Amino acid sequence: MSVDQPRKRAKRAPKDLQKQHLEWDTPMYRLAVAQLDGTAAQMDLDPNLWERLRTPQRAHVVSFPFRRDDYDTVETVFGYRVQHLLTMGPTKGGVRYDDDVNLGEVTALAMWMSWKCSIMNLPFGGAKGAVRIDPRSLTPTELQRVTRRYTAEIIEVIGPDRDIPAPDLGTNELVMAWMMDTYSQQKGYSVPGVVTGKPIEIGGSYGRKEATGRGVVTCALEAARIAGFDLKDASVAVQGFGEVGGAAARIAASLGAKIVAISDVKGGLYDPKGLDLAAVDAWIREHRFLEGFPGPDRVTPAELLELPCDVLIPAAVQNQIGAHNAARLQCRLLVEGANGPTDLEADAILSDRGIPVVPDIVANAGGVTVSYFEWLQGSQQFFWSEQEVNNRLIQLMQRAFRDVQAVSERRKVNLRTAALMRGIERITEAKRVRGVFP
Ligand code: NAD
Repeated sequence: MSVDQPRKRAKRAPKDLQKQHLEWDTPMYRLAVAQLDGTAAQMDLDPNLWERLRTPQRAHVVSFPFRRDDYDTVETVFGYRVQHLLTMGPTKGGVRYDDDVNLGEVTALAMWMSWKCSIMNLPFGGAKGAVRIDPRSLTPTELQRVTRRYTAEIIEVIGPDRDIPAPDLGTNELVMAWMMDTYSQQKGYSVPGVVTGKPIEIGGSYGRKEATGRGVVTCALEAARIAGFDLKDASVAVQGFGEVGGAAARIAASLGAKIVAISDVKGGLYDPKGLDLAAVDAWIREHRFLEGFPGPDRVTPAELLELPCDVLIPAAVQNQIGAHNAARLQCRLLVEGANGPTDLEADAILSDRGIPVVPDIVANAGGVTVSYFEWLQGSQQFFWSEQEVNNRLIQLMQRAFRDVQAVSERRKVNLRTAALMRGIERITEAKRVRGVFP
C-alpha cells in the first residue's frame, strides 16, 4: 500500500492566497479559506494537504440564453457548479438562485459542504451550484425554464454517483422535481437519485423539508443545556423565515420556546410576548411576505439581530454579523441556520463576550443528513416513516454536536474551530491513504 506518511512533511507554507486563488477571490471565499487556514495552523496540518483543500477540484461556469415569458426578451444567464472534494464519494450540495451569486461564493459554500459531510460522517464531498438570477423576478413558467436549461448545461457533471444537487436559497422541492425530470429525459430513463429534496411523489424523503430546521433546533437544545438554560423556556429570534428559519421557528415553538421575532427579506415582526406562528403562516400563504401582518412591532432584518432574546438564529443569508454589530447582540446563544452569517471578527468578539456560536457546518447539517437518507432510501427502494427519519436525524445531530463540543473542551477552542478540526481531520486522513495520482 502506498501511503504518504505524515512524518514526511513538506517544510513550506501554502502558497500566497492572492496569487493562487484569483478565480475565486471574493469576500465569502476569503472567509472560508481564512477559517481553513486558522484551523489548519492549529492542527499542524501537512501543508501539502492544507493547500489542496483550499481550492475546489472542479469548478464549472456556464452561460446560457433564457427566454422571458414575453418571448421577445432573451437574457444571458450565468450558472455554476463547484465540486470541492471528490475524495469521499459523490459530491453533494444545494443549488441557490440569487442575483448576487458568484464563483467565489459558490466555492465557499462547496467547501463548507465538505466539512459538513465529514462532521456528519456522510459518504460525500462538498459541492454547490447556483444560477445568477433574482428568483423573485421569475414567473412560475420562467422558474421552470431556467431550471431545466441550467440542468441541461451541467448534465455531464451531475448524477446519482457523481454529484447530487439539493435545494438552497431561492430553490425548493419543485425546482428539484424539474431538475430530476430534465436529467431523466436526457438519459432516457427515470433517475430519481440525481437530486435530493424532491417531492415525496417521486422518491423524496419524509422530513427533508424541515430537516435543516430540525437540526438547528437539536443543536440549540444541546447548546442551551451547556449554557445553563432550557430551550423550552427560552425566547428565540429568527432572521429569515424561509425553508430553514420557518421550520426552526415552528419546531422550537412546538417544544415550548417563545418565538419573539422573525423576518424575511422585506422586514420583520417583533413581539416580546411571542408571535402567533399559525397566524403568520396563514398570512404568508396568502400574501407571500410578512409585510402588512397586523399587530407586532416592525423591525428590519438587521435590527432583529440586536433584539433581546436567549437564542438568535440567523437563517437568511451570509455576512450578517460582523465587527459592526457583534458587540450589540443581546442573545445568550447563537445558532447558525444560514451558511456564513458570522465573519471572523464577529467570531472573536462573541468568543470574548462568552456567547457560544454553534457554527453553520454543524447547526445546519440536518438538511444534507436527510438528503443522505433520501439518497439511501431511493437506492434501496425502501422508504422510512417520518418518525424514523426524524429520530435518526436527531440522533446523528446530537452525536455530531457532542463530538464537536468534546473537541472544543479538549483543545480549548471555540465550537467553529472544533467543528472545522473534526471535518478536516477525516478528510485529510482519507486523502493521505488514497495517495497522489499518478
Ligand atoms: P429560503 O429562500 O427558503 O429562505 C430565505 C429567507 O431569508 C426568506 O425569508 C427570505 O425572504 C430571507 N432573505 C433572503 N434574502 C435576504 C436578505 N438579503 N436579507 C434578509 N433576509 C433575506 O432559503 P433557505 O433554504 O431557508 O436557506 C436559508 C439559509 O440556510 C441559506 O444561507 C442557505 O444556504 C442555508 N441552508 C439551507 C439549507 C436547506 O436545506 N434549505 C440547508 C443548509 C443551509
